[in-house]
Amino acid sequence: MKAELPAVTLPGGRQVPALGLGTWHMGEGDASRAEEAASLRAGLDLGMTVIDTAEMYADGGAEEVVGDAIGGRRDEVFLVSKVLPYNASRTGTVAACEASLRRLGTDHIDLYLLHWRGRHPLAETVEAFEGLKAAGKIGAWGVSNFDEPDMRELLGAAEPARPAANQILYNLARRGIEYDLLRWSQVQGIPLMAYSPLDEGRLIGHPALEEIGRIHNATSAQVALAFLLTRANVIAIPKSGSPDRVRENFKASEIRLTSEDLRLLDEAFPPPTRKRPLEMI
Ligand code: NDP
Repeated sequence: MKAELPAVTLPGGRQVPALGLGTWHMGEGDASRAEEAASLRAGLDLGMTVIDTAEMYADGGAEEVVGDAIGGRRDEVFLVSKVLPYNASRTGTVAACEASLRRLGTDHIDLYLLHWRGRHPLAETVEAFEGLKAAGKIGAWGVSNFDEPDMRELLGAAEPARPAANQILYNLARRGIEYDLLRWSQVQGIPLMAYSPLDEGRLIGHPALEEIGRIHNATSAQVALAFLLTRANVIAIPKSGSPDRVRENFKASEIRLTSEDLRLLDEAFPPPTRKRPLEMI
Protein backbone atom coordinates (compact mmCIF):
# COMPACT_ATOMS: atom_id res chain seq x y z
CA MET A 1 0.00 0.00 0.00
CA LYS A 2 1.11 3.55 -0.73
CA ALA A 3 2.17 5.70 2.22
CA GLU A 4 -0.01 8.79 2.52
CA LEU A 5 1.60 12.05 1.52
CA PRO A 6 0.71 15.11 3.58
CA ALA A 7 -1.85 17.26 1.76
CA VAL A 8 -2.36 20.96 1.13
CA THR A 9 -5.85 22.38 0.64
CA LEU A 10 -6.15 24.85 -2.20
CA PRO A 11 -8.57 27.79 -2.14
CA GLY A 12 -11.80 26.19 -3.37
CA GLY A 13 -11.23 23.09 -1.27
CA ARG A 14 -9.29 20.75 -3.57
CA GLN A 15 -6.59 18.81 -1.75
CA VAL A 16 -3.25 18.08 -3.39
CA PRO A 17 -0.16 16.26 -2.06
CA ALA A 18 2.54 18.45 -0.48
CA LEU A 19 5.21 16.69 -2.55
CA GLY A 20 5.07 16.96 -6.33
CA LEU A 21 7.28 16.74 -9.41
CA GLY A 22 9.28 19.46 -11.18
CA THR A 23 10.20 19.36 -14.88
CA TRP A 24 12.72 22.13 -15.53
CA HIS A 25 15.49 20.88 -17.91
CA MET A 26 13.32 17.99 -19.06
CA GLY A 27 12.81 17.72 -22.82
CA GLU A 28 16.19 19.29 -23.60
CA GLY A 29 17.71 16.14 -25.10
CA ASP A 30 15.92 13.53 -27.17
CA ALA A 31 17.86 10.70 -25.56
CA SER A 32 16.59 11.33 -22.05
CA ARG A 33 12.92 11.99 -22.85
CA ALA A 34 11.66 8.44 -22.28
CA GLU A 35 13.52 8.22 -18.96
CA GLU A 36 12.11 11.61 -17.91
CA ALA A 37 8.55 10.53 -18.72
CA ALA A 38 9.19 7.28 -16.82
CA SER A 39 10.36 9.34 -13.82
CA LEU A 40 7.15 11.34 -13.81
CA ARG A 41 5.10 8.14 -14.08
CA ALA A 42 7.10 6.65 -11.16
CA GLY A 43 6.07 9.69 -9.12
CA LEU A 44 2.42 9.35 -10.15
CA ASP A 45 2.48 5.67 -9.11
CA LEU A 46 3.45 6.84 -5.61
CA GLY A 47 0.80 9.56 -5.44
CA MET A 48 3.07 12.52 -6.26
CA THR A 49 0.36 13.84 -8.53
CA VAL A 50 1.27 17.54 -8.74
CA ILE A 51 3.31 18.00 -11.93
CA ASP A 52 4.86 21.43 -12.45
CA THR A 53 5.90 22.58 -15.90
CA ALA A 54 6.05 25.76 -18.01
CA GLU A 55 5.98 26.91 -21.61
CA MET A 56 9.51 28.21 -20.99
CA TYR A 57 11.11 24.85 -20.15
CA ALA A 58 12.97 23.54 -23.22
CA ASP A 59 10.77 25.90 -25.28
CA GLY A 60 7.77 23.66 -24.72
CA GLY A 61 9.80 20.43 -24.74
CA ALA A 62 9.13 19.79 -21.03
CA GLU A 63 5.38 20.12 -21.62
CA GLU A 64 5.69 17.49 -24.35
CA VAL A 65 7.46 15.12 -21.94
CA VAL A 66 4.65 15.72 -19.44
CA GLY A 67 2.11 15.00 -22.20
CA ASP A 68 3.83 11.65 -22.84
CA ALA A 69 3.93 10.84 -19.12
CA ILE A 70 0.28 11.57 -18.38
CA GLY A 71 -1.21 10.00 -21.52
CA GLY A 72 -4.04 7.70 -20.40
CA ARG A 73 -3.90 8.90 -16.80
CA ARG A 74 -4.78 12.61 -16.98
CA ASP A 75 -7.41 12.26 -14.24
CA GLU A 76 -4.76 11.32 -11.64
CA VAL A 77 -2.75 14.48 -12.22
CA PHE A 78 -2.91 18.01 -10.82
CA LEU A 79 -1.26 19.77 -13.73
CA VAL A 80 0.50 23.11 -13.28
CA SER A 81 1.95 25.19 -16.12
CA LYS A 82 3.06 28.79 -16.55
CA VAL A 83 2.79 31.63 -19.01
CA LEU A 84 5.87 33.74 -19.71
CA PRO A 85 5.54 37.39 -18.67
CA TYR A 86 6.11 38.59 -22.26
CA ASN A 87 3.08 36.56 -23.36
CA ALA A 88 0.87 37.61 -20.45
CA SER A 89 -1.29 40.19 -22.24
CA ARG A 90 -5.07 39.71 -22.50
CA THR A 91 -4.87 37.83 -25.81
CA GLY A 92 -1.30 36.52 -25.44
CA THR A 93 -2.18 34.62 -22.26
CA VAL A 94 -5.01 32.80 -24.00
CA ALA A 95 -2.82 31.92 -27.02
CA ALA A 96 0.00 30.70 -24.75
CA CYS A 97 -2.41 28.55 -22.75
CA GLU A 98 -3.84 26.98 -25.90
CA ALA A 99 -0.33 26.18 -27.16
CA SER A 100 0.53 24.60 -23.79
CA LEU A 101 -2.65 22.51 -23.90
CA ARG A 102 -1.69 21.19 -27.34
CA ARG A 103 1.82 20.22 -26.16
CA LEU A 104 0.41 18.65 -22.97
CA GLY A 105 -2.20 16.70 -24.94
CA THR A 106 -5.03 17.71 -22.63
CA ASP A 107 -8.02 20.03 -22.63
CA HIS A 108 -7.34 21.66 -19.26
CA ILE A 109 -4.56 22.79 -16.93
CA ASP A 110 -5.45 22.60 -13.23
CA LEU A 111 -3.37 25.57 -12.15
CA TYR A 112 -1.98 28.18 -14.55
CA LEU A 113 0.66 30.60 -13.22
CA LEU A 114 2.20 33.87 -14.35
CA HIS A 115 5.90 32.82 -14.31
CA TRP A 116 7.14 36.16 -12.99
CA ARG A 117 6.06 39.80 -13.16
CA GLY A 118 6.57 41.55 -16.47
CA ARG A 119 5.40 44.63 -18.31
CA HIS A 120 1.76 43.64 -18.83
CA PRO A 121 -0.61 45.07 -16.19
CA LEU A 122 -1.62 42.44 -13.64
CA ALA A 123 -5.31 43.25 -14.16
CA GLU A 124 -5.00 42.27 -17.86
CA THR A 125 -3.38 38.94 -17.10
CA VAL A 126 -5.97 38.20 -14.42
CA GLU A 127 -8.78 39.04 -16.85
CA ALA A 128 -7.32 36.53 -19.32
CA PHE A 129 -6.94 33.92 -16.54
CA GLU A 130 -10.57 34.42 -15.48
CA GLY A 131 -11.68 34.01 -19.11
CA LEU A 132 -9.71 30.76 -19.42
CA LYS A 133 -11.29 29.57 -16.18
CA ALA A 134 -14.80 30.37 -17.39
CA ALA A 135 -14.04 28.44 -20.61
CA GLY A 136 -12.89 25.40 -18.59
CA LYS A 137 -9.36 25.55 -19.99
CA ILE A 138 -7.83 26.13 -16.55
CA GLY A 139 -9.15 25.14 -13.13
CA ALA A 140 -7.44 27.93 -11.19
CA TRP A 141 -4.74 30.55 -11.65
CA GLY A 142 -1.86 31.89 -9.62
CA VAL A 143 1.53 33.54 -9.82
CA SER A 144 5.21 32.79 -9.33
CA ASN A 145 8.12 34.79 -7.91
CA PHE A 146 5.80 37.31 -6.21
CA ASP A 147 7.07 38.85 -2.97
CA GLU A 148 4.64 40.09 -0.29
CA PRO A 149 4.21 43.63 -1.75
CA ASP A 150 3.56 42.11 -5.22
CA MET A 151 0.97 39.82 -3.68
CA ARG A 152 -0.81 42.72 -1.99
CA GLU A 153 -0.88 44.59 -5.29
CA LEU A 154 -2.17 41.50 -7.06
CA LEU A 155 -5.01 41.04 -4.57
CA GLY A 156 -6.05 44.64 -5.23
CA ALA A 157 -5.86 44.27 -9.01
CA ALA A 158 -7.65 40.91 -9.09
CA GLU A 159 -10.49 41.57 -6.65
CA PRO A 160 -12.92 39.81 -6.26
CA ALA A 161 -10.89 37.00 -7.90
CA ARG A 162 -7.97 35.59 -5.91
CA PRO A 163 -4.83 33.63 -6.80
CA ALA A 164 -4.79 29.94 -5.89
CA ALA A 165 -1.02 29.74 -5.31
CA ASN A 166 2.33 31.54 -5.44
CA GLN A 167 5.34 29.51 -6.56
CA ILE A 168 8.60 30.75 -5.07
CA LEU A 169 12.19 29.73 -4.36
CA TYR A 170 12.24 28.05 -0.96
CA ASN A 171 14.68 25.56 0.50
CA LEU A 172 17.01 25.31 3.50
CA ALA A 173 19.63 27.50 1.83
CA ARG A 174 17.02 30.11 0.81
CA ARG A 175 14.84 30.75 3.84
CA GLY A 176 14.15 34.46 3.25
CA ILE A 177 10.36 33.94 2.96
CA GLU A 178 10.25 32.75 6.56
CA TYR A 179 10.61 36.41 7.56
CA ASP A 180 7.29 37.50 6.07
CA LEU A 181 5.86 35.89 2.91
CA LEU A 182 5.40 32.41 4.39
CA ARG A 183 3.29 33.58 7.33
CA TRP A 184 1.41 36.16 5.23
CA SER A 185 0.50 33.47 2.68
CA GLN A 186 -0.62 31.06 5.41
CA VAL A 187 -2.87 33.75 6.92
CA GLN A 188 -4.29 34.59 3.47
CA GLY A 189 -4.86 30.90 2.72
CA ILE A 190 -2.76 31.11 -0.44
CA PRO A 191 -0.56 28.00 -0.75
CA LEU A 192 3.11 28.36 -1.66
CA MET A 193 4.83 26.02 -4.09
CA ALA A 194 8.50 25.66 -3.06
CA TYR A 195 10.61 25.48 -6.20
CA SER A 196 14.22 24.25 -6.31
CA PRO A 197 13.61 22.47 -2.97
CA LEU A 198 17.06 20.86 -3.26
CA ASP A 199 18.57 24.22 -4.25
CA GLU A 200 19.01 22.76 -7.76
CA GLY A 201 20.94 19.84 -6.27
CA ARG A 202 23.39 21.99 -4.27
CA LEU A 203 22.00 20.68 -0.96
CA ILE A 204 22.92 17.10 -1.87
CA GLY A 205 25.70 15.87 0.39
CA HIS A 206 25.59 18.87 2.76
CA PRO A 207 27.28 17.72 6.01
CA ALA A 208 24.42 18.84 8.31
CA LEU A 209 21.88 16.99 6.17
CA GLU A 210 24.08 13.90 6.03
CA GLU A 211 24.41 13.94 9.82
CA ILE A 212 20.64 14.15 10.38
CA GLY A 213 20.16 11.61 7.60
CA ARG A 214 22.32 9.08 9.49
CA ILE A 215 19.90 9.21 12.45
CA HIS A 216 16.88 8.59 10.20
CA ASN A 217 18.60 6.23 7.76
CA ALA A 218 17.87 8.84 5.09
CA THR A 219 19.74 10.70 2.37
CA SER A 220 20.54 14.41 2.35
CA ALA A 221 17.87 14.96 -0.34
CA GLN A 222 15.26 13.30 1.83
CA VAL A 223 16.16 15.45 4.86
CA ALA A 224 16.00 18.65 2.77
CA LEU A 225 12.52 17.68 1.52
CA ALA A 226 11.37 16.51 4.97
CA PHE A 227 12.19 19.99 6.26
CA LEU A 228 9.83 21.57 3.70
CA LEU A 229 7.12 19.04 4.59
CA THR A 230 7.09 20.45 8.14
CA ARG A 231 5.77 23.75 6.71
CA ALA A 232 1.99 24.21 6.55
CA ASN A 233 0.53 25.23 3.19
CA VAL A 234 3.74 24.48 1.25
CA ILE A 235 3.98 22.12 -1.75
CA ALA A 236 7.56 21.10 -2.65
CA ILE A 237 8.25 20.17 -6.27
CA PRO A 238 11.66 18.45 -6.57
CA LYS A 239 12.73 17.56 -10.10
CA SER A 240 14.42 14.31 -10.99
CA GLY A 241 14.87 12.64 -14.34
CA SER A 242 15.59 9.31 -12.64
CA PRO A 243 12.79 6.99 -11.43
CA ASP A 244 15.01 5.78 -8.57
CA ARG A 245 15.66 9.31 -7.32
CA VAL A 246 11.94 10.13 -7.58
CA ARG A 247 11.25 7.11 -5.35
CA GLU A 248 13.99 8.28 -2.99
CA ASN A 249 12.44 11.75 -2.82
CA PHE A 250 9.00 10.30 -2.12
CA LYS A 251 10.36 8.57 0.99
CA ALA A 252 11.09 11.99 2.50
CA SER A 253 7.44 11.84 3.57
CA GLU A 254 8.25 8.97 5.95
CA ILE A 255 10.77 11.03 7.97
CA ARG A 256 9.60 12.73 11.16
CA LEU A 257 12.14 15.42 11.99
CA THR A 258 12.50 16.01 15.74
CA SER A 259 12.87 19.39 17.44
CA GLU A 260 16.57 18.56 17.88
CA ASP A 261 16.89 17.92 14.11
CA LEU A 262 15.19 21.26 13.42
CA ARG A 263 17.55 23.00 15.86
CA LEU A 264 20.55 21.52 14.03
CA LEU A 265 19.09 22.67 10.72
CA ASP A 266 18.62 26.21 12.08
CA GLU A 267 22.26 26.18 13.17
CA ALA A 268 23.49 25.08 9.72
CA PHE A 269 20.97 27.17 7.74
CA PRO A 270 20.05 30.16 9.91
CA PRO A 271 16.52 31.50 9.42
CA PRO A 272 16.27 35.17 8.34
CA THR A 273 16.44 37.92 10.95
CA ARG A 274 15.48 40.76 8.61
CA LYS A 275 13.59 41.36 5.39
CA ARG A 276 15.39 40.33 2.23
CA PRO A 277 13.93 40.79 -1.25
CA LEU A 278 12.56 37.54 -2.60
CA GLU A 279 15.33 35.58 -4.33
CA MET A 280 14.60 33.95 -7.64
CA ILE A 281 16.39 31.62 -10.04
P1 NDP B 1 15.65 20.96 -7.51
O1 NDP B 1 15.98 21.65 -6.24
O2 NDP B 1 14.42 20.16 -7.60
O3 NDP B 1 16.92 20.06 -7.90
C1 NDP B 1 16.97 19.34 -9.09
C2 NDP B 1 18.37 18.75 -9.22
O4 NDP B 1 18.60 17.84 -8.14
C3 NDP B 1 18.54 17.96 -10.49
O5 NDP B 1 19.87 18.15 -10.91
C4 NDP B 1 18.33 16.51 -10.06
O6 NDP B 1 19.08 15.66 -10.88
C5 NDP B 1 18.87 16.52 -8.65
N1 NDP B 1 18.18 15.56 -7.76
C6 NDP B 1 16.84 15.41 -7.59
N2 NDP B 1 16.59 14.47 -6.66
C7 NDP B 1 17.81 14.01 -6.25
C8 NDP B 1 18.21 13.03 -5.31
N3 NDP B 1 17.34 12.34 -4.59
N4 NDP B 1 19.55 12.82 -5.14
C9 NDP B 1 20.48 13.52 -5.87
N5 NDP B 1 20.15 14.47 -6.77
C10 NDP B 1 18.82 14.71 -6.95
O7 NDP B 1 15.74 22.09 -8.65
P2 NDP B 1 14.79 22.65 -9.77
O8 NDP B 1 15.35 23.98 -10.10
O9 NDP B 1 14.59 21.68 -10.85
O10 NDP B 1 13.39 22.94 -9.04
C11 NDP B 1 12.31 22.02 -9.02
C12 NDP B 1 11.21 22.47 -9.95
O11 NDP B 1 10.69 23.74 -9.59
C13 NDP B 1 11.66 22.71 -11.39
O12 NDP B 1 11.93 21.51 -12.08
C14 NDP B 1 10.51 23.50 -11.92
O13 NDP B 1 9.40 22.67 -12.20
C15 NDP B 1 10.24 24.43 -10.73
N6 NDP B 1 10.96 25.74 -10.83
C16 NDP B 1 10.21 26.87 -10.94
C17 NDP B 1 10.80 28.11 -11.07
C18 NDP B 1 9.95 29.34 -11.19
O14 NDP B 1 10.49 30.41 -11.51
N7 NDP B 1 8.65 29.25 -10.97
C19 NDP B 1 12.27 28.26 -11.06
C20 NDP B 1 12.98 27.02 -10.85
C21 NDP B 1 12.32 25.81 -10.74
P3 NDP B 1 18.42 14.40 -11.64
O15 NDP B 1 17.30 14.94 -12.49
O16 NDP B 1 19.54 13.86 -12.44
O17 NDP B 1 17.94 13.46 -10.57
